[in-house]
Amino acid sequence: MLTDDIKQEIRGSLAKIAGVMPAFKARPGQRVMIAEVARAFAASQQGKSDKDKSPVNTGSTFVCVNGGTGIGKSLAYVLPGALIARRREKKLVISSSTVALQEQLVRKDLPLFLPAAGVHMKYELAKGRTRFVCEHKLRRVIEDMRQLGMFPGNATEDAPDGHIGVYETLLKDFESGQWDGDRDTIERIDDAQWSTITTDRHGCLSRRCPNYKTCAQVNYPGLKAGA
Ligand code: SF4
Repeated sequence: MLTDDIKQEIRGSLAKIAGVMPAFKARPGQRVMIAEVARAFAASQQGKSDKDKSPVNTGSTFVCVNGGTGIGKSLAYVLPGALIARRREKKLVISSSTVALQEQLVRKDLPLFLPAAGVHMKYELAKGRTRFVCEHKLRRVIEDMRQLGMFPGNATEDAPDGHIGVYETLLKDFESGQWDGDRDTIERIDDAQWSTITTDRHGCLSRRCPNYKTCAQVNYPGLKAGA
């Protein structure tokens, strides 16, 4: 249930944002969205089973919002979500359709809105491990290509084209620390090329890997945290 306490806290946070960002004014569509999202979160209370007192959802719910561009959707779901999660001592998980949207949220929206709203929360961007290079495979692809003296059109499963220079540059940048192994920070590689130099957990050698210590996947904080 959406209590007066929560409503008051949301209003107070919006007022704080307006206090530090004079240009900010909650738009009508944004206010409606904030109210609907807050209602949905508030309805999803966790109670205890009468039988064995184990946790049960007493009001799982969802809300579907079609918000136009520019109404301030990020704030409209982050603010009620963050405030209600904090009250319940829960983690708020936000899933977006693209990594670019997640990046925008973590690098731009959250650092802007949360402090302004007086909400102090830790947040972390969790990406799938295949967004990061597998150093072991990258080295193997380069080695294969060198050994085969490959050129365009002479492809194998592990080396789909002859662009060895692309892979060598990636490895050089990775070794020098200029590239952190994150696919989203480079543009010079297509999906086919990328698929040869990344891996999922089934293909990972884990601690048996000679590159384990410097592995971008292993060292990514979001994956260390179990993402
Ligand atoms: S630890 Fe796994 S993901 Fe990392 S470089 Fe080795 S095989 Fe690849």
